[in-house]
Amino acid sequence: MSVLDKFVPKTKCCACETPLSLEHVNGICLLKEATWKFPVWGNILVKVWGLAVAFVCDECVRKKAVIKFAVEWIGDEVKYHPLVQLKDVDPKVFEPLARLDPTFQQRSYGIGG
Ligand SMILES: [Zn+2]
Repeated sequence: MSVLDKFVPKTKCCACETPLSLEHVNGICLLKEATWKFPVWGNILVKVWGLAVAFVCDECVRKKAVIKFAVEWIGDEVKYHPLVQLKDVDPKVFEPLARLDPTFQQRSYGIGG
């Protein structure tokens, strides 16, 4: 059983709070510091790691719904961390990536923000 198989059925959408389905999982990379170990994301090119992740349903992706929580998976438990309680990450840490791809800064970085 994969980590997604284990946790996604227990996880609710971080925007509308309906239960998620394993058929289509939308992981959203947030510009917030995670205070936990898993799941997190990062970028090895700019040496940034430990940023928070949210999971949202297809409908909330379509609506660009506002994300309320980031998710922590620990043991068998899902914990939800309100975004307002998490520290912001300065998007400037990703500026070196603009040198690799000139269109980088023109694109959107997800939903809800
Ligand atoms: Zn939703």
